[in-house]
Amino acid sequence: MRWSKALIPTHKEDPADAETVSHRLMLRAGLIRKLTSGVYNYLPLGWRAIRKVEEIVREEMDRAGCQEILMPVVSPAELWQETGRWGIYGKELWRVQDRNGRFFALGPTHEEIVTDIVRNEVRSYRELPFTLYQIQTKFRDELRPRFGVVRAREFIMKDAYSFHRDDDSLDETYRRMCDAYTRIFERLDLTFRPVEAATGAIGGSTSHEFMVLSDTGESEVIVCECGYAATDERAEGTVRPIETGESPLPLERIDTPDMKTIEEVSEFLGIEPWRLVKTIIYEADGRTVAALIRGDREVNEAKLGMALGADLVVPAGAETIEKVTGAPVGFSGPVGLEGVEIIADHTVEPLVNIVVGGNESDVHLKNVNPGRDFRTTEFHDIALIGRGDSCARCGKELDSFRGIEVSQAFKLGTKYSSCMKATFLDEDGVGKPFVMGCYGLGVSRTVAAIIEQHHDDDGIVWPTSAAPFDVEILAVNVKSDDVRQAAEVLYDELQAAGVAVLYDDRDDSPGTKFKDADLVGLPLRVTVGDRSLKRGVVEARVRRTGEQTDVPRDGAAQEIQRMLAALT
Ligand SMILES: [Zn+2]
Repeated sequence: MRWSKALIPTHKEDPADAETVSHRLMLRAGLIRKLTSGVYNYLPLGWRAIRKVEEIVREEMDRAGCQEILMPVVSPAELWQETGRWGIYGKELWRVQDRNGRFFALGPTHEEIVTDIVRNEVRSYRELPFTLYQIQTKFRDELRPRFGVVRAREFIMKDAYSFHRDDDSLDETYRRMCDAYTRIFERLDLTFRPVEAATGAIGGSTSHEFMVLSDTGESEVIVCECGYAATDERAEGTVRPIETGESPLPLERIDTPDMKTIEEVSEFLGIEPWRLVKTIIYEADGRTVAALIRGDREVNEAKLGMALGADLVVPAGAETIEKVTGAPVGFSGPVGLEGVEIIADHTVEPLVNIVVGGNESDVHLKNVNPGRDFRTTEFHDIALIGRGDSCARCGKELDSFRGIEVSQAFKLGTKYSSCMKATFLDEDGVGKPFVMGCYGLGVSRTVAAIIEQHHDDDGIVWPTSAAPFDVEILAVNVKSDDVRQAAEVLYDELQAAGVAVLYDDRDDSPGTKFKDADLVGLPLRVTVGDRSLKRGVVEARVRRTGEQTDVPRDGAAQEIQRMLAALT
């Protein structure tokens, strides 16, 4: 591709609203442009990188024995109502209506649709197991789209679904799919780690996420020396209890004007944050519950859901909080709280003389004692586990790192097939629900993850497997006949040999062109200039190492192909 004719709108300056390296560089190098919040255009360089990643994903899926299909983006509400997800999915499910007022979903994932195909077409155990996959645009109406294509509302995903007679067969495919993911991420030169994950809105019994290590990643991964690794949502561990041995003091009412946060109240009272116990009001499948947690900890909503036996747990809105507690947000407390279940974290049980909200505007209560001053319905482990807590497996202190979740695998079991009545006839002549697995991989997000791990101060440093082009030819001065001629010959020869070439033939200053070359970051840059041509050479430079080599002008195309091969 000739740069002079290409749509590669590079920017010298960092965009103001980009928080992460990948978001910044994808905008600056002209890979993407925002259309509206969480929705992006992929320009030529970005789209070529996406297609390179897709090709690797496709090769590895096919190698693992999966079959590619394409399902529609639009699916009727009735299918989602069969599984109950029309309600459970909440606002993230993007709903549209047709001209007759019928409701449809823009697919965030395709369990319902693929299960519908299989229940209509597959009858016998003899046809099992098999795995279907697609690479497609997905929609999730994210509350807070951010980090460019990492958390977008429209994105490209590979999703695969496997169908089995029994759990053993599912286990085997699950392992094979995790192996395929490992090969994909290795081929893309990513440093990653599979970790145990929560099952969330997809459901099922077991799940793993593949995390690409990145300081700006949205996910917190909890790890232990013993080999345990899990997302913070999923991680099991023990929070060290705090026991002071104090005697209970008489309850006191204190004025805390406009003090709503843990920091404000604990600073005002001169107490450690743990002594201030938070009361958080949640809606859990339509029930209203109050969760109590130490002020220095956060509630793990997945664990809370499990403790309550609820599928969907969301913090209650201001209106519900006022109705339940009689006070504005920030002053909820368990004392005198009527008509709601109170679930407390285990670590609240041994506390003495705590501070809680007074269920009254600008009031807190001091020297509150669980058992004496309020009753909890139950104590549960509902705390988010973090660095410094104890490992549930070996008891050692847990550590953590940040990551970008690039893929997730689930053992769904019969969650979808049971409620959608998708059955096959087994060997014994009995109809049984299909046992299922599902396996997602964020393609557009993976491109961002590659850039997070492969860049320097000057720009992107593409691994060859994902690079939009293999080589950039940079003609230093296109007004020179000799330079232009040498560059054109090399461009033709490399293209004829099947090398993907970006040829910077722009009539621009060398400074601009060299800066853009580093920003766009192709694996190999070949500079054609008057000075080197006088010596009978062109200059090849490896982007990753900065290593520069003189390549004789005659036979340069062969030598450059050899250098490229050495880079992969
Ligand atoms: Zn451990």
